[in-house]
Amino acid sequence: MAQNAEQGEPLCPKCMNWDPRPEEGYGPRVAYCTARDIVTSYWYKCEYYEEVTADKRVARNKSIYGEFREEGSEE
Ligand code: SF4
Repeated sequence: MAQNAEQGEPLCPKCMNWDPRPEEGYGPRVAYCTARDIVTSYWYKCEYYEEVTADKRVARNKSIYGEFREEGSEE
């Protein structure tokens, strides 16, 4: 089984498409895997699956990149 180089854990075969960049869009079938801290296109909802919402995406990006202004935001 493939290994996640940073975490040394086996990658789960249930979610084969994933991307470590949380700023990527969200939509149908896009989720965070809280176990492996990845953005995944899921095909299976396990206990580590967390649906991506606009609020969660902004909060997650802020936690990684700090404060920034979203395009089209006021101020
Ligand atoms: S969300 Fe669940 S099934 Fe998908 S990669 Fe993470 S642990 Fe595996």
